[in-house]
Amino acid sequence: TEETAFKRTQFANLPGGAFFEGKWHSADMTLEVRDPEDGVLLGRVCSSTSQDVERAIAHIHRQLQWEDWPLRDRREALEKAVVLLGEQAERFANIIAAESSKTIGEAEREVRRCAETLRLSAAASGELLGETLGFEDSMAGAGKIGWYSRKPVGIVAAITPFNDPLNLVAHKLGPALIGGNGVVLKPSRRTPLTGLALVKLLLEAGVPSGRIAAIVSGPGVSEALVTDPRVDLISFTGGPATAERIAAAAGGKKILSELGGNNATIVCADADAEAAAEAIVAGAFGVAGQNCLSVQRVYVHTSLFDSVLELVTARTRELKTGPKLDRGTDVGPLISEAEARRVEEWVEEAKAAGATVHAGGQRRGAYYQPTVLADVPSACRVIRDEVFGPVVSILPFIEVQDAVFAANATEYGLQAGVFTRSIDLALQIAEKLHVGSVVINETSDVRIDSMPFGGFKKSGVGREGVRHAVREMTEPKNTIINIA
Ligand code: NAD
Repeated sequence: TEETAFKRTQFANLPGGAFFEGKWHSADMTLEVRDPEDGVLLGRVCSSTSQDVERAIAHIHRQLQWEDWPLRDRREALEKAVVLLGEQAERFANIIAAESSKTIGEAEREVRRCAETLRLSAAASGELLGETLGFEDSMAGAGKIGWYSRKPVGIVAAITPFNDPLNLVAHKLGPALIGGNGVVLKPSRRTPLTGLALVKLLLEAGVPSGRIAAIVSGPGVSEALVTDPRVDLISFTGGPATAERIAAAAGGKKILSELGGNNATIVCADADAEAAAEAIVAGAFGVAGQNCLSVQRVYVHTSLFDSVLELVTARTRELKTGPKLDRGTDVGPLISEAEARRVEEWVEEAKAAGATVHAGGQRRGAYYQPTVLADVPSACRVIRDEVFGPVVSILPFIEVQDAVFAANATEYGLQAGVFTRSIDLALQIAEKLHVGSVVINETSDVRIDSMPFGGFKKSGVGREGVRHAVREMTEPKNTIINIA
């Protein structure tokens, strides 16, 4: 069909299957990348080997010891990347919408977000400047002066998930590069084309080829990457089970991890039910719920329960599930039919335990309809675990304290929302929620790329958000002079 042909041409000028030792490699391009919606073959990337990883790391390691890449040049390369991304915005949005499960509108928003992340990365150069040390004010400081500045940790391994295939890659590459590090990217094998295209763009923008490598997947690749002693820091975004495997293999390396969420929103008795319902629907079903900030559990005061359930249900039923490239589509597919089947299974489990289905509840291939549940027992997986699909549960509470206990009763602690007209009550609740961000009069689904981003408990270790990531990826280094 015309659409298929269109998709194929989008990828005809893909750079190759892997980038290391300063060049693109296209040997063994056997890893197929297919559109999750219709199975159309979009491209092939290298099935890499642990030897490729070894070569990639050895090359960057060598370059890092000899080659200077001044801060000013790093900043200029990232500024140039912002310009190039602006010029290629449409192409990038098409790649995202083809290989991931995002609608074209969601893909376009991600490209704009990525430009912001790269702009913030360029602007974070000031983080590296450091400050003078307080020798004059110390008993041990007589006759000495000194300063510190921030130095790159060395080589960063960047491992990224499928759900934001561009911006979450930029959140690792931007801070790593401005910090003066070398970086080896391993994008998700489900959405590698976007990450490889970003690497190509960064090279065009002036990032030295000895600073960056990209290897998708293949036997032993992950293990080789996380165990190599020349890798100084692993920056991982993905699921907690993968994070545990990486931590077990990494042998004491510094690991930054941005993991899942099981995010709650609390709707208090005095809240604006209409505004809350609208935000809940947007936050629960964007990217078909495949978003670490997705709204999964909503605790509503009993006095508003019926109206919020009704409003959320009515709005959810209006959503159009369909093809990603159709501008009228609100909710696209899941990343695979297997994922849609898993979500279906979790909803069926909840139904068997007494949950009622108010909207959705049906699967068609990789699509799962946006689904609203009520009466869900707390032992069900849709309450307990991260759904990562278009399912929201609406649950009642009487005392605010019980809503906070329930919201906190999960292994995760990424973000939460609170709706109330009382700022006192909002702040009281916010203080007690064990999460990285509390959003008042919005849901958990709010992020700007500069804020310290991450969570408590199983939601991860360390923070992204450009300046914060730059600090994590650099170390303060003191220089002290004896002038006595
Ligand atoms: P995933 O954990 O399955 O995969 C993430 C990456 O890890 C992929 O590149 C994968 O190839 C790689 N990987 C798999 N096994 C590995 C191993 N043993 N060693 C090294 N790397 C390995 O996650 P996913 O399904 O792609 O993404 C969904 C998850 O990501 C959800 O849990 C979601 O909440 C989370 N996520 C978190 C954030 C955040 O910032 N907190 C953002 C987006 C997604």
